Amino acid sequence: MKFAFLAHPLSQEHRALLNVDDAGSLRRSWGGDLFQFCQQLHQNLNASRNGGPLDETVRVVDHFIGLESATGNRCDGRFYEIPLDAAQILDEPNRAIALMEQAVDDAARWGAEIVGLGSMTGIVGSQGEHLATRGPIAITTGNSLTVFSALQNLRHVCALTGISLRDETVAIVGVPGSIGSALAKMVAPLCKSLICVARTPTTRAVQLADSLNSRLSTDIQESLKSATIVLSATSTGDCIEQNWLLPGSIVIDVAVPTDVIGGRTLRDDVLVLTGGMVMTPETMSRESMFIGFNHGMVPSCFGETVLLALENRRESFSIGRRLSVEKILEIGATAVRHGYDFSNLSSFGVPIENRQISRFKKVVYRTRIRRSSQTPGFSITTETNAQISNGVERNGKSSAATNGKLHFSMEPATESASANPADQYQRYINPVLAALGKRSGFLKTFVKGEGCYLWDDQNRRYLDFVAGFGSLNLGHNHPTVAKAIQQAIASGAPGFAQSAVNPYAAALADRLVACSPAGLEMVTFANSGTESIEAAIKLVRASSERKRILYCHHSYHGKTLGALSLTGNNKFQKPFGPLIDCMDAIEFGDADELAKALQSNLYAAFFVEPIQCEGGMNVPPPGYLNDVELLCRQNETLFVLDEVQTGMGRTGQLFCADHHGVSPDIMTLAKSLGGGLVPAAAMMCRQDLWMKAYGSVDNFALHSSTFAGGSLAMVAGLATLDVLEQSDLIENCQSRSEQLMGGLKEFARRNDLVRDVRGQGLLIGVEFHQTPGNIVRHFAAHDPSGVSHFLAPNALDAVRNLTPIYVMQTMLDEFGIYTQVARSRPSVLRIQPPLCVSEEQVDEFLEAIEQSCDELSFSNRITDSMIAKSTMGNLDKKSKS
Ligand code: PLP
Repeated sequence: MKFAFLAHPLSQEHRALLNVDDAGSLRRSWGGDLFQFCQQLHQNLNASRNGGPLDETVRVVDHFIGLESATGNRCDGRFYEIPLDAAQILDEPNRAIALMEQAVDDAARWGAEIVGLGSMTGIVGSQGEHLATRGPIAITTGNSLTVFSALQNLRHVCALTGISLRDETVAIVGVPGSIGSALAKMVAPLCKSLICVARTPTTRAVQLADSLNSRLSTDIQESLKSATIVLSATSTGDCIEQNWLLPGSIVIDVAVPTDVIGGRTLRDDVLVLTGGMVMTPETMSRESMFIGFNHGMVPSCFGETVLLALENRRESFSIGRRLSVEKILEIGATAVRHGYDFSNLSSFGVPIENRQISRFKKVVYRTRIRRSSQTPGFSITTETNAQISNGVERNGKSSAATNGKLHFSMEPATESASANPADQYQRYINPVLAALGKRSGFLKTFVKGEGCYLWDDQNRRYLDFVAGFGSLNLGHNHPTVAKAIQQAIASGAPGFAQSAVNPYAAALADRLVACSPAGLEMVTFANSGTESIEAAIKLVRASSERKRILYCHHSYHGKTLGALSLTGNNKFQKPFGPLIDCMDAIEFGDADELAKALQSNLYAAFFVEPIQCEGGMNVPPPGYLNDVELLCRQNETLFVLDEVQTGMGRTGQLFCADHHGVSPDIMTLAKSLGGGLVPAAAMMCRQDLWMKAYGSVDNFALHSSTFAGGSLAMVAGLATLDVLEQSDLIENCQSRSEQLMGGLKEFARRNDLVRDVRGQGLLIGVEFHQTPGNIVRHFAAHDPSGVSHFLAPNALDAVRNLTPIYVMQTMLDEFGIYTQVARSRPSVLRIQPPLCVSEEQVDEFLEAIEQSCDELSFSNRITDSMIAKSTMGNLDKKSKS
């Protein structure tokens, strides 16, 4: 169905601007020759400056061709300009109405069946009543959707800022106008108190205020002394000074031109939002200047006109002063169904940034939360949602009538993001990770864990083959650990008590010394793997005359500065230099290179992982760790074994060192030491080393950390050892490892994508071949200028390592299995389930990985043949010509 939309320049400046693109001449020259475009711009600017084509006739200034909504409905439209600005329309309504009649008649001749009235054209002529009764076609002011979207803006901003409408005084400026009155009616039941602000106390204004049990004011400035939420929809504009607003106020300005004076927000402690805008669905063409220029964000009056055309509704809508609440909800539900999105907030045409919201939340905290000693958070936000959604059904998708009444949510799916943890994560924790994860669908919000399973916020269950990168050897929420922690709290164990004996720490140290390799007799507790490495570096430096330390390429020991200096990954290190001096790297697994390096007698210590986990699950050749031990002893270099990830049963023995029978001088532990519930880590060492470094009155307190050795962490560590010693977890790890390794190796023989399967226990890596060269080259050929490579330098790397990413994604989406790639070597998929994984779960995993890989092999084969054919096609064409 065809529609027309009438609007006018907001001011003389606006009109001059429109004239610059007179009849689209400028747009038509865009996209071709840049010089030609500049020439055209120059001509139009000159013409416009010299008075321009200011003829007084109605003209079509934009076309909407094939607008398609999310449901696939389509419509076409025309944009008519009424050649009067806002002030002229109000001053000369009869002249405006005559011009509008001309436009409506022209639109009807063109075939339009509904006409929308934008800005002032929706005010003169009794809010569309005159044109609607005159015919020949249906008319809408679009005011119903404007009201709906202003309320959605309000709901969204309240949720974003943690404001509960129930505690707020709201002023509606612009009563008894049609939009103001409807807003007042709909907000009154949701807020603490309402002030209706009218220019004069007309009977209608008085009746409305009375019926809503609210105060009527005729003084905007006075009403803003008590209102912190302002919804403003006057017909005159320019009536609110920003300095009248209370700190922490939110204004939703629906008026065009704006009611708030200033052209931009002049204060940091208020939010002035452009109300009543809506984002059109992505399916909707951005080719028209109006939609394209505004990046899809359009006034709701336009949005409503398009909706009625999409729905083939030839009836007049939103006419006159009294808008029906039911119709407002109905058009809102329709908008949501067609893919309109109300969650984009802007201020004077500029999108609101996360930073502004964060800054404003601090003001909210000062002006509301602290005053009432409430804590911001879920409860406040949830209440707000509940209030605004009062009496309407969640998720506007269902517009079913209930009890004969239309029920519909003011909280469409797209908007529930406002208080959504993923959005908060993106805003406050890591915008890049969140954006990447959201785009790929890989970013899950996990809300529950039990054994080998995780559940997301949609209550979907996933088999967890990441296991907290080794922190969950016992699985999620192991009952023994959870119970031990609960009992410690119930018994009143002190959380922390410095420079005193903590019996739990003492007991855990005792147990760790007993179960660890020979020679390790002292324990320094820490809170993370990297902190245990820092403790080891300091011990080495303080106990040895030598200062240089040796480590391995592709190693991973943590991200604090000391541990990072020993982490063989240039990407992790580069931005943080200069790192700690005197650290040298050698090849992992190469005993000869180690022997050569140690002969220099320069090295105080050699830091090494038994298996390089983050580096790609690299298993050293048999006998390597024994050689390391021997070479270190011979050269008086300390042998530091990092068991942060391999320890606590992960490889099928309590420590990986046990497989080899080696006794390091220093050993670090973390991850599963805390039983998957509390951070806990330890640096274990020979007693003589500790005595040398710290064994004097002057030195005994040189290394400490406030939280290290806290009671709950120690209790968790003790319970973890109980479980590992008393259950069959470690045996299960061995048999599941055989099953997994066997299954993966079998499948690797059948599938050409897999390059290697390696690992020990339940620490396994599947390395994939890189994407075939011709496919990578094909992608690269789409970018002969190298622009995309310049803009996204890692794009081709991502294409090269597509297989593990594809497999990871498919396993997650299709099979509900959560895996990750090794961060330092993304061609390796890491397979690291909790040690309690069952035989059936391993089978499920093997089936899933095989299917995912087969699917990709198939796709590679098709792509390959398509590339071959396209090349032949090109050659064919060339030879013919
Ligand atoms: N050492 C190894 C072997 C690790 O795998 C890790 C973490 O993955 C660390 C140290 C650092 O531990 P954290 O992340 O707890 O600081």
